[in-house]
Amino acid sequence: MSERTAVVAGGGIGGLAAALALHRRGWDVEVLERAPAFGEVGAGISLWANGVRALEALGVGRAVRDRSMPEREAGIREPGGRWLSRADTGALERRHGSVVVLHRAHLLDLLREALPERMLRTGAEVRAVRRAGERVEVEHTGGVSRADLVVGADGIGSAVRRSVWPDAPGPRYAGYTVWRAVIDPGRPLRAGGETWGRGRRVGLVSLPDGRVYMFCVADAPAGGRAPDGEPAELGRLFSGWHAPIPELLAAAPEDAFVRHDIHELPPLRTYVSGRVALLGDAAHAMTPNLGQGGNQALEDAVTLAALLDRHPAVERALAAYDRERRPRTQMIARRSRWIGEATRWSSPLAVAARNTLIRLTPASAMPRALAPVLDWRPPT
Ligand SMILES: Cc1cc2nc3c(=O)[nH]c(=O)nc-3n(C[C@H](O)[C@H](O)[C@H](O)COP(=O)(O)OP(=O)(O)OC[C@H]3O[C@@H](n4cnc5c(N)ncnc54)[C@H](O)[C@@H]3O)c2cc1C
Repeated sequence: MSERTAVVAGGGIGGLAAALALHRRGWDVEVLERAPAFGEVGAGISLWANGVRALEALGVGRAVRDRSMPEREAGIREPGGRWLSRADTGALERRHGSVVVLHRAHLLDLLREALPERMLRTGAEVRAVRRAGERVEVEHTGGVSRADLVVGADGIGSAVRRSVWPDAPGPRYAGYTVWRAVIDPGRPLRAGGETWGRGRRVGLVSLPDGRVYMFCVADAPAGGRAPDGEPAELGRLFSGWHAPIPELLAAAPEDAFVRHDIHELPPLRTYVSGRVALLGDAAHAMTPNLGQGGNQALEDAVTLAALLDRHPAVERALAAYDRERRPRTQMIARRSRWIGEATRWSSPLAVAARNTLIRLTPASAMPRALAPVLDWRPPT
């Protein structure tokens, strides 16, 4: 059989993982990335056991483990510092495998380096996708590409989705904004876990190189920017919160924090049409509260390639992909949204009730509750 060809729109985590999964199964792939270079925001990413298994299936599990470290400190605290719950990371690891954290740029590099250079094209923005006989045609700023399969991995604002599903609902604002930074604390510091206040939240994650990935979340109008700069805004929002939050905010250079409003995609009725499949945020952009968006993109990629092997007819494989991936990713997006809503409560009574519930929940409940998300295995 002649080599099968695929165009992957978007060279983020999902697009590069899809390209690698297809390449490993003998496809000739062209990745079209609109940015002038492959890159990611300056932030960390948590990879859960399901995502790590997907990376192992992609042949980069070991490389990821070498550049990451297991998350040892997790749980939820009050702004004053008292722990409401402390995750038993050992039990979580024994039950599911560890959660590892690394810099996003490192994850992207590992995926990119596993692909032949000739498959990667930057500065190519996808504009439209259309059927061309038995194949699919992709119009982009560098010309027109044709392939047996097109994967739309071009993120939440996906041009592939808009082109193939012009009536699908667009992203909606979740009501809160996130600031992220990787900060050098200037001294050894063990940081981990989240702190939930009234409608505000901070998360800290230690990175393997001694730096700390910090994210801060607060309700805000969409598109808002602090008139006197984001560090000043963060100082106001999180003034008086427990150590080392003020220390890290003070150590962050003026431009360290990137700010993003959180949007999510309303559930799509399908992820596939003919020989076009959506993957990652293009298919199911979810709120980040469960830290699963990237993990799900990795699962999508591995599943898609495996199903294309199992069903030689592309349309049949894509129908199977839709059946397998849509219910799961939409269930995880729902769970992530619920968690986000609980962290936004600001009435003192509701927050007190929430915190009591967290305090009374045994640590052993967490591995059980996460089982439907983390128990995923790559298709054989
Ligand atoms: C604050 C925050 C924290 C998060 N934390 C975690 C976490 O800890 N763990 C986790 O698993 N997930 C996390 N996520 C989610 C995760 O970042 C995303 O789900 C993941 O990056 C999606 O990858 P993707 O490749 O599908 O999309 P993207 O990362 O958006 O990549 C899309 C790529 O396509 C390119 N592109 C866009 N349009 C075009 C076009 N028209 N033509 C060509 N190229 C195009 C873009 O330049 C980009 O490179 C977090 C998200 C946020 C916002």
